[in-house]
Amino acid sequence: PSKQFEFARRKLDSGIIEFWRYASAHLKTLNEVRDPDKVENLVKEMVDFMTEQKRVILADIDNVERTSGVLEWKNDKAQQLSAVVQNRLKHLQNPANCSKARRLRCGINKACGFGCQLHHVTYCLMAGYALNRTVILDSKNWRYSRKGWESMFLPLSETCTLKDAAGYIPWKDTPENYEAPVVELPIIDNIQTASGNNKRPEWLPQAVPADLFSRIHAFHKNPPIWWLGQLLAYLWRYQKSTVTMMEELTNELHYKSPIVGVHVRRTDKIGTEASKHEVEEYMRKVAEYFDQLDVKMNKTQVRRVYLATDDPTVFREAREKFPDYEVIGNFKSMESAGLNKRYSDESLRGIITDINFLSHSDHLVCTFSSQVCRLAYELMQARVADATDNYDSLDDVYYYGGQNSHNLEAILPHEARTPEEISFKKGDLLGIAGNHWDGYSKGENLETNKRGIFPSYKAVEHFVTVEMPRYEDKEV
Ligand code: GDP
Repeated sequence: PSKQFEFARRKLDSGIIEFWRYASAHLKTLNEVRDPDKVENLVKEMVDFMTEQKRVILADIDNVERTSGVLEWKNDKAQQLSAVVQNRLKHLQNPANCSKARRLRCGINKACGFGCQLHHVTYCLMAGYALNRTVILDSKNWRYSRKGWESMFLPLSETCTLKDAAGYIPWKDTPENYEAPVVELPIIDNIQTASGNNKRPEWLPQAVPADLFSRIHAFHKNPPIWWLGQLLAYLWRYQKSTVTMMEELTNELHYKSPIVGVHVRRTDKIGTEASKHEVEEYMRKVAEYFDQLDVKMNKTQVRRVYLATDDPTVFREAREKFPDYEVIGNFKSMESAGLNKRYSDESLRGIITDINFLSHSDHLVCTFSSQVCRLAYELMQARVADATDNYDSLDDVYYYGGQNSHNLEAILPHEARTPEEISFKKGDLLGIAGNHWDGYSKGENLETNKRGIFPSYKAVEHFVTVEMPRYEDKEV
């Protein structure tokens, strides 16, 4: 404890009380005003005042975190645990004698885009960790590059090669299969166990290794995402030439903090898997991030944006419409991102570059319906102690394609007030279907099987932990 901390805490305390006093008193006034023009003015004033109060409260929370020493403590804990996990993965992936190790073959060529393929490989590494099998990646004839994984990234193993994956058989959840030297998993959507209620392995996302959970949760609000970020960080290790390319681009583009990463997914995705969102919609979130930052830092910051997109016209539009922003982006990435050029070395460098700069940004604005942005968000978790809230998604909540059911747990009871709402008791599990980003979420009460909306503040994440091998934490 320190005097600075106590001052920061007091300021936060009065900020919250004044916020509530202002909101409740003015809502009562609003109820009494009859003149429509006066109503309109008062509503505008309230939204402006409440937005400013929110910014001050959030800045005060940052102050509490800093002055209490919690921020530094979180950073230390995150770094220590990341070293432990990366060491375990290095150990798993580098058996002294590969032909004696139990192995898992993983082909990269799932018939989909880079983000989806990387998520497939991440799922393999997660399975390797849960089943104690060394993952051997087959990236021959990769649709993005004839030169394979190692054209951009370090190999997954120094001691196993593709030859060690010969003679693989399909993975099955049976004791005989556990001993098979080399197995291959079906894609995540098709994997099943021999028995069990939902017939899917319990280690699938968003499960967390039981022995790590409380250590992660100490510094990170959402341990499943941190765990995924660590698996990805192991995969996402650059070759020297890739490091050089990123350094050169960082200089060329004048990429530096503070910066917001914006991903605008268009072309083949629109109307098939996602709805179109206008550039203005993304930029409103960017503006809010910088307005908040200005209050936090107590001075005006340069408003820098790294824009990644598969449609170059979006970049021109953003630069034209938002001259007060420094909008940067990599033309080569955008121009090779459309479907006609997508599966090429140029496009591979482009998407890796974009994900690199999105994941290094201070905040992400995108649509979580895209695997590209979810990948950047996961990688971001390995760079900052806790980046759980460093994003705005214009559509979905975070999910991992093919995940096991993702539930929230009610921490307060709720009585439905309209037919659209659902009721629940404290402790009920709610299958999450989405967040309306207006204080309400949508889901299914698993007790009553009713689906509908409910106030988001009444439920929290229900985390799943699973016993996995407890790797020895030693240097390899
Ligand atoms: P999703 O379809 O957006 O969920 O993500 P996928 O990664 O599975 O497939 C989309 C593919 O389109 C990417 O892998 C890229 O090849 C390309 N793409 C989409 N958005 C971008 C972008 O912002 N930059 C670049 N360089 N490529 C993109």
